Amino acid sequence: MNAFDVIVIGSGIGGSSAAAAAARAGARVALLEKSASFGGSAALSAGMLWTAPDVESYRRRIPNGEIALGERVVADFADAIAEVRATGARVADEPTRDIMTFGIGYSTDIHAILAACRDAVTAAGGVIVSEAPVRELLVDAGRVVGAVAQTPNGPVEYRAPSVVLATGGFGRDPELLTRYVGPQSDNLLMRSHVGNVGDGLRMACAAGAGGSRSMASYYGHLVPWPLEEFEPEHYLPYSQYYSGSTVFVNMRGERFVDETLGDEIINQVVVGQPDSRGVLIFDEHVHLTEARSEPFPGLGATDRFETAKAAGGLWASADTIDGLVAQVAEWGVDAATLSATLAAYRGAAEAGGGWASGAPVAADARAPQTAPFHALMVQPSITFTFGGVPISTRGEALDPDGAPIPGLYAAGADIGGLSNVGYAGGLAPAYITGRWAGRSAARAALNETSQERTHA
Ligand SMILES: Cc1cc2nc3c(=O)[nH]c(=O)nc-3n(C[C@H](O)[C@H](O)[C@H](O)COP(=O)(O)OP(=O)(O)OC[C@H]3O[C@@H](n4cnc5c(N)ncnc54)[C@H](O)[C@@H]3O)c2cc1C
Repeated sequence: MNAFDVIVIGSGIGGSSAAAAAARAGARVALLEKSASFGGSAALSAGMLWTAPDVESYRRRIPNGEIALGERVVADFADAIAEVRATGARVADEPTRDIMTFGIGYSTDIHAILAACRDAVTAAGGVIVSEAPVRELLVDAGRVVGAVAQTPNGPVEYRAPSVVLATGGFGRDPELLTRYVGPQSDNLLMRSHVGNVGDGLRMACAAGAGGSRSMASYYGHLVPWPLEEFEPEHYLPYSQYYSGSTVFVNMRGERFVDETLGDEIINQVVVGQPDSRGVLIFDEHVHLTEARSEPFPGLGATDRFETAKAAGGLWASADTIDGLVAQVAEWGVDAATLSATLAAYRGAAEAGGGWASGAPVAADARAPQTAPFHALMVQPSITFTFGGVPISTRGEALDPDGAPIPGLYAAGADIGGLSNVGYAGGLAPAYITGRWAGRSAARAALNETSQERTHA
């Protein structure tokens, strides 16, 4: 048997941060990772640590988010950035603004941050174990007291007074997606680390946790349809970040969402449309500007339309709107409806906003007007789920009555409610909630150990 102060399950940014925070607080930590390598989706990411710039912006963008979590994440952001900077990992001097339309963040070397967290664990006498998936918690009289890892050599029991779940959410599990997100969500293209299949949520529920708000919403981006391949190296270049500057129609040729809400939001809305896909219509101006620029440092400047074409995506280009509509009609989109939609959109955009074909047109919307005109068929993807284990701002996992489950903590994409349709960032909230969980887990474990010594 292996005895520790704190067990952390999952070595992405949430788990690594929790493990480092617990180690820095004096705990002996076991960090257990399912895969052969460490870092989860964080290691595949663009490394931008960002969130809402202030509480008012958080409320505006995510009116149905858990405000207590939003307030604390925003309040802790500057200190978290300072902590990361102090490890020596690269952090940009100046912030990037208007990330995903409203956020503030810093470009970082995410691999160096993950490595610094692991160093903190081993420096404090902890262990880091790969190929050790955990699917069972040890519970004694209602208290979580450890976990069982399935190692290549068979099951191994790890015992500790505190256990942190940080398994990256349930974005890759078709059953949980169908149950919480909805009927077509199991067809979403998966844009995340392969390990993120909801183990944390399942274990938390088995230990008595409730579900959070926003169980049906998630983060992801529109990607070309169909795709010949979709591997981790494609996740960033295939994402159509510029879709907010296009006219987005469904397979009937109708609009169904205000595109300027941003790619990560319209990506969620298209799932409920016919065939769960749609067509981006844009002009050469958008192609030469937003489709080619780097949305923020780390995402890479590439021609996303050309990359989508090379990936096998269905596309069309024409010198006139009518010529484009005729080509898109060959994909099964009704030509008359699409023409009417584009005309209505142009009228509303020229009038400074309004309504066109079933959805609002924003005041700053710009209709396609510079030839050639382009169309790209796209489908939604999922990076991680916004719902999960409800937590306190101390990182404690909560039961349906809101009471902490003794010995159980959660962090990162395993927690739920911070983002809800609107997105408050992935890496920084995971790092920050990891600190909450790691510090609380260490405090509780070390208190318990000192009480045991006092009574001995
Ligand atoms: C291509 C891409 C780009 C991104 N870019 C950004 C960005 O620039 N900025 C941003 O804010 N967010 C970004 N994100 C999102 C960000 O990566 C996630 O929000 C973040 O990694 C979540 O952290 P996490 O620790 O909860 O999960 P992860 O980082 O995914 O880590 C979860 C880990 O848990 C492990 N695990 C799962 N189950 C078990 C188990 N049963 N036992 C043991 N281990 C287990 C997994 O194998 C994995 O290693 C991006 C994501 C992707 C895919």
